[in-house]
Amino acid sequence: MKYLLVIVLALVVFWLWRVSRRRHDEAAQARRAANRSAPEKPITPTVVCALCKVHLAQSEALVGRGGVYCSEAHRREAGA
Ligand SMILES: [Zn+2]
Repeated sequence: MKYLLVIVLALVVFWLWRVSRRRHDEAAQARRAANRSAPEKPITPTVVCALCKVHLAQSEALVGRGGVYCSEAHRREAGA
């Protein structure tokens, strides 16, 4: 009867160890996945200013008649 208790206790300890190990593995895997995806920056479409040819994000560009521009000054300068 005493041995049975020891065996049950050992099984419980083993089970707890396995559960904590699995949790640790999952956390490590999530970290690895996060690290893998981190360097990949979201691709933002870039455009070229029609006047100074500078590359800028499409969301920052100003659209004029002659194309897209990096700033209001260049849009005005181009007469668009
Ligand atoms: Zn420009």
